Amino acid sequence: MMLLNLISCKSNEQPSATARDDFRYFVDQFEDMRVLRYRLPGFESLSLQQKKYIYYLSQAALAGRDILWDQNFRYNLTIRKTIETIIETYTGDKESPDYKAFLVYARRVFFANGIHHHYSSDKLKPGFKPEYFATLVRGSSPDRLPVKPGQSADDLISVLSPLIFDEKLFPRKVEQGAGRDMVAESATNFYEGVTQKEVEAFYAAKADSSDSRPVSAGLNSKVVKINGTITEEVYKSGGKYGAAIDSIICWLDKASAVAETEIQKRELQILIDYYRTGDLKKWDEYNVAWAQNSESMVDYINGFIENYEDPLGMKATWEAIVDYTDLEASRRTKTITANAQWFEDNSPIMPKYKKEKVTGVAAKVINIAMLGGDCYPPSPLGINLPNADWIRKEIGSKSVTLANITNAYDIASQGNGFLEEFAADAAEVERIKKYESIADALHTDLHECVGHASGKLAEGTDPNALKNYASALEEARADLFALYFMMDKKMIELGLLPDGQAAEALYDSYLRNGLLTQIVRIRPGKNIEEAHMRNRSLIAHWVYEKGKPDNVIELFNRDGKTYVKIHDYSKLRILFGELLEEIQRIKSEGDFEAGKNLVENYGVKVDPKLHTEILERYAKLKLAPYTGFVNPYLFPVYDSNGTITDVVVEYTDDYLGQMLYYGKNYSFLNPQESLK
Ligand SMILES: [Zn+2]
Repeated sequence: MMLLNLISCKSNEQPSATARDDFRYFVDQFEDMRVLRYRLPGFESLSLQQKKYIYYLSQAALAGRDILWDQNFRYNLTIRKTIETIIETYTGDKESPDYKAFLVYARRVFFANGIHHHYSSDKLKPGFKPEYFATLVRGSSPDRLPVKPGQSADDLISVLSPLIFDEKLFPRKVEQGAGRDMVAESATNFYEGVTQKEVEAFYAAKADSSDSRPVSAGLNSKVVKINGTITEEVYKSGGKYGAAIDSIICWLDKASAVAETEIQKRELQILIDYYRTGDLKKWDEYNVAWAQNSESMVDYINGFIENYEDPLGMKATWEAIVDYTDLEASRRTKTITANAQWFEDNSPIMPKYKKEKVTGVAAKVINIAMLGGDCYPPSPLGINLPNADWIRKEIGSKSVTLANITNAYDIASQGNGFLEEFAADAAEVERIKKYESIADALHTDLHECVGHASGKLAEGTDPNALKNYASALEEARADLFALYFMMDKKMIELGLLPDGQAAEALYDSYLRNGLLTQIVRIRPGKNIEEAHMRNRSLIAHWVYEKGKPDNVIELFNRDGKTYVKIHDYSKLRILFGELLEEIQRIKSEGDFEAGKNLVENYGVKVDPKLHTEILERYAKLKLAPYTGFVNPYLFPVYDSNGTITDVVVEYTDDYLGQMLYYGKNYSFLNPQESLK
């Protein structure tokens, strides 16, 4: 509510949405991370009501930022506040190599929403010494530091220094190694003072296997032990994260007042109710309403949604986006959606696990207007929600491809030498360049619109049976569905692809990525941990191995460099179909052992010799494997009566400035709380 005066933000640039061709996408790069910006095409042509609706939702999308930081690690807010204070008030030398190393670390921490890498989960390594950190803290404004009354800068240093510099202390955000206590060894802040066994027993006692519409147990709470008793601290108004949630509620309420339809209004009111009560039944009720509403021009997600960061796959991080429909591109996904039943009927999975009726596979292409929480700075490329299996089965799900984000990626990556280095030959490079945008877009659409929506569970299968392997297997299932159908002549019949070469181009790049290049994101000696990467590795290595007798895919060496060559695209398609059938069976039957074996045998390990080679080749290109975004600023324009008459977009290329601005305007949780 105190955020009305947002116009004070500095930006040298004028809104430049018409300047399509000379829009600069690149903003910043530091070690393995780069930052881009994205455009809001067509924003000016939206109605005033739609613009206001977007504006209020975008404030709600920014208001929960602190929550994610605290979920990622319970000292993150204290560390972030300290970093902000140093950048804004340190009076010492700001030109020294040490200070520059500190700024690199700060930018990486902001990018990861905490001190652990957003993707690899490993603690970020500062390029400066603890003594220098102490100098920075002592040289900064003491009344801005996050200390409790009576504590000094030195007290703060003694708490934070080991957290930042000791590699053995909280080394990983999410630990999913086989045979480890995933709860006790993960730095994420979903559990405190409890073991994995205790948590599993706690939720097992609550589960009711006869409930055909089970709530997502544990989704919005932290599990703690108080005086020997295990209990949940629920995220809600008046509860855990209450101050931030109250701000979200306030903005959602304003949005509700300018919503375009009664359906939107009702949906927002259920979401507000959920934030007030923390009641997971309300959350499901909201998701049903949200999934059914596929007509709105402006849409959003806002809540505790994805469970990738919980080693046990129950607790969700807070995330938000605001988006509006890209009418032109949505025609493509409409075609797919209209044929959803054809896809299901013709899919290579076992008939008994097919949906008799695929419902509500809504899909459209959207442009992002604001990213928040776990969608910022690194953004997803597509979204398929809600996650609850029973809602997906009974109501269906909503799928979107984020057009302006994907576009920014593609344009910023053209001509950087990556493809030329890793493609097997010039013909492959040509084909990718010709078909990349259409093949990628269609793959994402198929993955989101029909892939995730396909298939059903056998009667009585526990939806959580695949535990820590569920995410990787689910992504593999959706990817395989898309890969399998890319090569179907139906794609050309429907006018979705120009010819069969587009699918071949996609197969080339998928295998090249899964077998070779995606491991540039992994540090030497490490395994693959992230679900989407495990999925790609699993698929690529499985089809490579199964196709060996027929030489379907060849890995060959030229001048000491490894390349991938596909010799038989049709056989490869059949292999994709076979793996899809097996993974659907695993999901439908909840076959944990088979799922575990697939992921562990094909999705996790990295060949150290190949890894070294790929990293060396990649390093020579001087590229960053992770991409994040700065948001545009949305500013309301008021008339003399204080009424909003317009909302304008301002683009920025000041990444650090945006982080400090958010720190100043959207901090609702107490950064001193973690200090004992
Ligand atoms: Zn997916």
